[in-house]
Amino acid sequence: MSKFFAEKLSGLKPYVPGEQPKDEVYIKLNTNENPYFPSKYSTDAITPEELEKLKLYSDPESINLKNAIANYYGVSAQNVIVGNGSDEILAFIFAAYGAHGVVFPDITYGFYKVFAQLFGIKYQTVPLDGQFKINVDGYKKADKTVIIANPNAQTGEYLTLSQIESLLINNPKNVVAVDEAYIDFGGESAVKLTEKYGNLIIVQTFSKSRSLAGARVGFAVAQKSLIDDLNKVKNSFNPYNVNRISAILAEKAINDVDYFNQNCKKIIKTRTRLIAELQSMGFYVIPSKANFIMAKTEKIGGEKFYKELKERGILVRYFSDERIKDFIRITVGTDGQTDELLKQIKQIIGE
Ligand SMILES: *Cc1c(COP(=O)(O)O)cnc(C)c1O
Repeated sequence: MSKFFAEKLSGLKPYVPGEQPKDEVYIKLNTNENPYFPSKYSTDAITPEELEKLKLYSDPESINLKNAIANYYGVSAQNVIVGNGSDEILAFIFAAYGAHGVVFPDITYGFYKVFAQLFGIKYQTVPLDGQFKINVDGYKKADKTVIIANPNAQTGEYLTLSQIESLLINNPKNVVAVDEAYIDFGGESAVKLTEKYGNLIIVQTFSKSRSLAGARVGFAVAQKSLIDDLNKVKNSFNPYNVNRISAILAEKAINDVDYFNQNCKKIIKTRTRLIAELQSMGFYVIPSKANFIMAKTEKIGGEKFYKELKERGILVRYFSDERIKDFIRITVGTDGQTDELLKQIKQIIGE
């Protein structure tokens, strides 16, 4: 740290992304990317003509992309904001609604704490219950902005629409942001509740279910007054936040509904098989509606297990948080990757 660095940021603990190795020697099951290629609609649309247009700024409104998202969800473009990854959208939410504090689960997406620190926002956490489920009643009278990942990050546990609705009813004076990064893998989006609830913001990403992690595109859907707030923050930070190429990639991806549905189905099917096989080897697996699972065995702790798998060419993640340190988090890959993973796990635990 230099002597010039802001004093109030000196204690900042940045988000630690999963490893992104430069070589492709690993089977990469550590950062919840999609194992399938992006849509052909997307890649075919990046023509030499579009590349030449890179000399011009991107559309600060990203209107074509917003229209495509609005069309997919049956809302209007004024109910949508797009961002440079959903991480950027989440940052806008913290900046816009964090002044009176935020509240989120003790085990969840690690970035929420980081944003709170960066923006000098007080945060409170509500413990997940013994089954790693979100304790919906713990957010009554929160008197703070509520941030929930659904399905929850690091567990995959899912809240039903009626549970989301009770969060909204219990918090009429607070914004409730629902981060649906993993919603397409078997959950039901709460986008339709935005029409009824003026305090709800749904955040989604193209990084997981639409195979565009490297393009960095996320979005939020909410009533116009909330989107106007977020645009105010966006336009005070980075008006051209989504680049030309990524906007095209994402617009085409959301239009390719068949390919998207097919990939989500494949991942759900592979997840079901992976969970069953691990359970038959004696693993405890947290029920997951995400494209990852959390699994543990008494035979080996999370960190050791991660290292053993890495030596065998497979990257997974483990977390040092006390409550989940015995688990490894495994991204659901292709069937072929899953076969190799299961083979290596059997060798490690000596089955
Ligand atoms: C992956 C993830 C994000 C970030 O997505 P980007 O759009 O790639 O920035 C946000 N929230 C959760 C819960 C995630 O798992």
